[in-house]
Amino acid sequence: MALPNGQVAPGIGQLPTANPSVLPAIASPLLMSELNLILVGPPGAGKGTQADRLRKDHDLPYYSTGDILRAAVKEGSPLGKEAGDYMKRGDLVPDEVMCEVIMERVDGEEAAGGFLLDGFPRTVRQAEVLSDRLDARGRDLTAALLIDAPDEEVIKRLSGRRVCAENQHTYHLLFNPPKREGVCDRDGSPLLQRDDDREETVAYRLRVFHDQTKPLIEWYESKGLLRHFDGSRAPDEVHQRISAALAELEEAA
Ligand code: ADP
Ligand code: ADP
Repeated sequence: MALPNGQVAPGIGQLPTANPSVLPAIASPLLMSELNLILVGPPGAGKGTQADRLRKDHDLPYYSTGDILRAAVKEGSPLGKEAGDYMKRGDLVPDEVMCEVIMERVDGEEAAGGFLLDGFPRTVRQAEVLSDRLDARGRDLTAALLIDAPDEEVIKRLSGRRVCAENQHTYHLLFNPPKREGVCDRDGSPLLQRDDDREETVAYRLRVFHDQTKPLIEWYESKGLLRHFDGSRAPDEVHQRISAALAELEEAA
């Protein structure tokens, strides 16, 4: 989900804006032949917000499973019908369904030179399927970027998240409010709260994250692919740290 203007308005819980002089240099465009990246982290940690910036930096095809599923639900397609009830409850959609959705994209022509996945994999099983598929094609995952934030912080973020009806542009009532209340700055469509961002479902989604996605994080750590970022910092600072880590990976390549 995008922060529309890259800004975070002053508000409770906002961390100070990063001081560029103490941050690592921002990466120049990467020369690595293929940048195959995944974003992992608790709901509300800022994966979509960072994805928006990384896409601009690296011109990568971006696949957010949450966005793909919500569009399918809206359309009433067979995928949407299958996934809708799981999403409403805050449960994960079954692995085989998700793997099919994502493998099709990773194998597609658009992603032949690299990709950025947001929200997939979310279980060790999904990670294994992705890894096997990349292996079979002689490709590697460049890194799993973990954007982490404590439960109290993500609860505040999810309860204030508002998303525009037309294009899923993302705002926050306190940290990134729109100029006109309830209206998207970018396309004028109404801002809505996601069903699964309501308090009861958020607590459940966090449990699901701790139970099912934490083991995936350990799995990537054990393979030396995990890069950890403190998502409770300001969006610009998180972005700069990710860029610096990607530049390091490029140097090592
Ligand atoms: P995710 O994709 O991980 O669920 P989002 O990028 O949608 O998370 O961010 C969740 C909410 O928190 C949104 O309302 C967004 O505007 C806000 N947000 C994102 N990053 C930050 C940050 N670093 N500081 C404060 N608020 C943030
Ligand atoms: P967030 O951005 O808040 O982390 P997402 O938008 O990524 O949430 O996901 C919303 C919902 O879509 C999840 O709660 C789950 O029901 C479903 N979903 C998304 N990605 C996956 C996945 N890889 N595996 C299973 N379910 C998924």
